[in-house]
Amino acid sequence: MGGGNGQKSATKRERNAAKLAAPKGSQLKQNQAAMTLKCNVCLTTFVCTSKEQQLKDHQENKHPKATFEQCFPDYQKA
Ligand SMILES: [Zn+2]
Repeated sequence: MGGGNGQKSATKRERNAAKLAAPKGSQLKQNQAAMTLKCNVCLTTFVCTSKEQQLKDHQENKHPKATFEQCFPDYQKA
């Protein structure tokens, strides 16, 4: 008498794919070292790699009466 002993082994393992966010903390030191661009009006420092639009936004928002050159005389346009 062969009793069919159907052993069902539920081996379904749900693997949760952990979404690893790329750590960006390593760029912090580089950013600090690149803080060379300074607003001449309020002396706020910017990363030298800041885009011109970002600097323009600062100038228009903070110093609407000043010109872009007055705020960032050292900024070299590409
Ligand atoms: Zn400013």
